Amino acid sequence: MSERKIKKILVANRGEIAIRVMRTAREMGIQTVAIFSDADASSPHVKYADEAVNVGPAPSNKSYLNMDKIIDVCLELNVDAIHPGYGFLSENATFAKKVAEKGIIFIGPSPEAIEVMGDKLAAKNAVAEYDVPMVPGVNHAVADLKEAKEIAEEIGFPVLIKASAGGGGKGMRVVENPEEIEEQMQRTMSEAESAFGDKSVFIEKFITSPRHIEIQILGDMHGNLVYLFERECSIQRRHQKVIEEAPSAILTPEKRKAMGEAALGVAKSCGYYGAGTVEFIVDENLDFFFLEMNTRLQVEHPVTEEITGKDLVKEQIYIAEGKALSFKQEDLKIIGHSMEVRVYAENPKENFLPETGRLVTYKVPQGPGVRVDDGFEEGMDIPIYYDPMISKLITFGANREQARMRMLRAIEEYDITGLSTTLDFCAFALKHDAFISGKFDTRFVQTHFKPEMLDTHNEEEEQIAIALAAYLLEEKKKTSNAVGKDGQMSKWKLRVNQ
Ligand code: ADP
Ligand code: ADP
Ligand code: MG
Repeated sequence: MSERKIKKILVANRGEIAIRVMRTAREMGIQTVAIFSDADASSPHVKYADEAVNVGPAPSNKSYLNMDKIIDVCLELNVDAIHPGYGFLSENATFAKKVAEKGIIFIGPSPEAIEVMGDKLAAKNAVAEYDVPMVPGVNHAVADLKEAKEIAEEIGFPVLIKASAGGGGKGMRVVENPEEIEEQMQRTMSEAESAFGDKSVFIEKFITSPRHIEIQILGDMHGNLVYLFERECSIQRRHQKVIEEAPSAILTPEKRKAMGEAALGVAKSCGYYGAGTVEFIVDENLDFFFLEMNTRLQVEHPVTEEITGKDLVKEQIYIAEGKALSFKQEDLKIIGHSMEVRVYAENPKENFLPETGRLVTYKVPQGPGVRVDDGFEEGMDIPIYYDPMISKLITFGANREQARMRMLRAIEEYDITGLSTTLDFCAFALKHDAFISGKFDTRFVQTHFKPEMLDTHNEEEEQIAIALAAYLLEEKKKTSNAVGKDGQMSKWKLRVNQ
C-alpha cells in the first residue's frame, strides 16, 4: 500500500462536525473546503473553511446528499480527499465508490465494509463466524406474519422488530405480546420502506434493562487494529443518545478487554480500516451482545479523545493516506474521565419535541476541562431541514465525579435563550442518584424523568429571583440604579424583568 499525502480536504457535512474536522486539518497544514446549502450560507463552518462552495437548496437531498455535485466541486478545486463526517453520505457505499473512482480519497473504510455493516442483517451474518455474542433472534429478513409470530414466541416476549437498514434510533418497535405482532410487523415494514427504501425487518429479543456500551476502534490498511476502550451511551431518548461518558462506570478491566476483543472480531469480519464503532447492549449480568457497527466517526467521539489523548480525525486522515498506526494496543491507556451532553433544540417537557427558532442569546461555557464543539452563533436560526443538534458540551476530569461536577458547572454557564434545549434535562440527569451511582440503563428517561421535574428547579429559581428582586428594589432606593460592581446588570435582575 503506497502512501499518498493529503493536501486539501473537502468536508461533505455541516455544523459542528464540519468545523471539528477542519480544525484538525488546519493543525495538520491541510487546506479545507466547505460545502453549504442555501440555508447555511452564513454558517460558521463556511467562514472557517479556506474555500466554500454552495451545493444547492436547503433540503439535504438537493445539497448535502448531492453526490455528483460534491464530486464535481472536488475535481474543480483539486481536492484530494473527502471527509464525510457523520449522517448524510458518511455511510453511503455508493458515494464511497464513486469518490474512489474519480481518484479522490474517501476518509473512511472501504465501500464493501460500509455496505456489509450498513445493513444490520448482513452485519450479523458477517460477524457470525467470529467469536462475538449476539442478541438472541433471527439472522434473516422476516416478511411472513405467521412466521414472525412463531419466531417471537420462540424467542419469548418482549421482542424488538428492527429494520435492517435502520439508523439514528429509527425503525424499531417493541412488541409485548402475540396479539400485537402482526400489526407491528406491518407498521415497521412500511415505515422502513418509506424511511430507508428497504422494508426488510428482523426480530430479536428485547433486553428489558440494558445498557448501551460501544467500543471505538481504529484500523489501518496494513491489517493493524486497536480498540480505544468504551463509551457508555445509556442515557437516551427515542433510542438515541443524549449523554455519553468514558469510561463506563460499570466495566471491569476484564470485561473491557473482552468487549474490546469482540469489537476487533467485528472489524476483522469486514476487513475494516479507518475509525469505527462497535455497539453492544449489556445486560444486568454484564453479558454483552453485538448490536451494530457504525462505519464512521461517531457523534460522541470526543469523550474517547479526552481519555486517550488521541485525535481521532488525525488518525482517520493518516489511515486514509495509507500510513500504519503509530501505536499499539499496549500503548493505549485510559487517563481520567470524560462526559458529553448533546445540546439539541428540543423541548424535554414536550416529549423532546424538536424545536426551530433563533438563538437569541448564545454564550458558551469556558474554563478548565471544558470543550464545546458547535456550529452556530448568537442570532442564528436553527433550520428545520437538518438534525436539531446545536452543539456538544464535553468535560474532562481526573475522575468521574470531577467530570460530572464540571459538566454541571458548564451547563450553568451555558446561556441559550430563544428556544428550548436538552441542557435542563441533562442537568437533571447528572444530578440524579441513579446517574451518580452509575446504576442506570437505557430506560432512564422512562423510569426517572417527568416533565414537572424541570419545573421544580425553575420554581426554586423563581423563589430566589423574587427574594433578589425585593432586595434589589431596596438597593435601588438607596443607589438609584441596579448595575453591579462589574458594570453588568445581574443575571437575576434581568430574569426578574422578563
Ligand atoms: P451516533 O450513532 O454517532 O451516536 P446518532 O445515532 O445520533 O449518533 O446518528 C448520527 C447522525 O446520523 C444523526 O444526525 C442521525 O440523524 C444520522 N443518522 C444515523 N443513521 C442514519 C440513517 N440510517 N439514516 C439517516 N440518518 C441517520
Ligand atoms: P440504530 O441504528 O438506530 O442506532 P441500534 O441497533 O444501534 O440502532 O439501537 C439503538 C438503541 O435501541 C440502542 O442503543 C438501545 O437503546 C436500543 N436497542 C436496540 N436493540 C435493542 C434490544 N435488542 N433490546 C433492547 N434495546 C435495544
Ligand atoms: Mg446504533
